[in-house]
Amino acid sequence: MEPFVHALIPLAFLLALFPNIDKKYVFSLVPIVWIIDLDSFIGIHRFTFHNLFFVLVLAGIAYLIWKNRVAFWVAFYYGLSHLILDLSMPGPAWLYPLVQKTFYLDISIAKGTSWMLNIDTGSLSINQYNTLFGNLPVQTYVGEPAILFYLLFSVLLVVYIILKSKKKSRK
Ligand SMILES: [Zn+2]
Repeated sequence: MEPFVHALIPLAFLLALFPNIDKKYVFSLVPIVWIIDLDSFIGIHRFTFHNLFFVLVLAGIAYLIWKNRVAFWVAFYYGLSHLILDLSMPGPAWLYPLVQKTFYLDISIAKGTSWMLNIDTGSLSINQYNTLFGNLPVQTYVGEPAILFYLLFSVLLVVYIILKSKKKSRK
């Protein structure tokens, strides 16, 4: 999944459901969702950092920095959100290095002549993963959905700025 989407969705959900949570944690811990994808450069992508143990290490570091449980849970949430958003084929290696396999879940609801619910689960070893995805020539970092999300956000931002300036001029 693209970096922007990896950050936007968990951030928006967190702010929507926990509006009173300390914004210091909400915003400064966002980079966790990008750190996890750095295993494309260091180690084995979808394995080295895409696992629960690495997420726990990051959450532990956040706890040590602030000595605060909320920091731990926000960091853990961001890490877990990345693994969940990567859950479709090929999936993350949830338990790497203990279990050296990815686990994925693909679910879709489609309609042709009738409704179809497709559920597909499976796992890939490191070798299978590399054979299928190891040498992709192109990696998309900003694709169409991300551009449209930016556009939507810009529209809302303009409305926000107009409303704010109106409020100010009324005072
Ligand atoms: Zn990822």
